[in-house]
Amino acid sequence: MNVIVGRQKNVADLELQESNNLDGFLGYVDTNHIDKKNDSIADYPISWDKTWMDICNIISQRSKDPVRKIGALIVNDDHKIISLGYNGMPKVIDGLDNDKIYPWDKNKNNIEDNKYAYVVHAELNAILNATQSVKGCTLYVNYNCCNECCKAIIQSGIKKVVYMNKKDKSIYNIGRTMLRYAGIETIEYKSNEEK
Ligand SMILES: [Zn+2]
Repeated sequence: MNVIVGRQKNVADLELQESNNLDGFLGYVDTNHIDKKNDSIADYPISWDKTWMDICNIISQRSKDPVRKIGALIVNDDHKIISLGYNGMPKVIDGLDNDKIYPWDKNKNNIEDNKYAYVVHAELNAILNATQSVKGCTLYVNYNCCNECCKAIIQSGIKKVVYMNKKDKSIYNIGRTMLRYAGIETIEYKSNEEK
């Protein structure tokens, strides 16, 4: 787009026309050029929701959880990615492998032998991985959030949660209730409603 900032007169190559919409800030805009371009542009091929949920699904594939791979993404109102996370084991010192130290089992008798005591959920990892404030941001995740993640979501200042798949256990219902009490908008993303 050819935009002339300020009032430049006597420019022979451009048919300049004063813009009424920009309150004179840009001075003159070549609107013929803009109109021609818009004629050839259709709607965006995919929505932002689908874009972000697809990225959640991709990053979830980094998880070594053999049962459920979860990916989370935090974006701001300018459609910029602030952070990513997936469900994984806590960091360990250099030279050690956290996936060999911590178990991915879920049905062992002792709590120490099951993943639940150790794994860091995707949503919490995304919040902790952020290098700037997530206040006012939206969190996308390919499953609904447990009570522990919802605590972190609420306290971090995230304002909206979009999830895709729904797990029906009390910890998810508790999480949903806490989000509601905190005034955090929660939306179920349905991929089949995409154009
Ligand atoms: Zn969680």
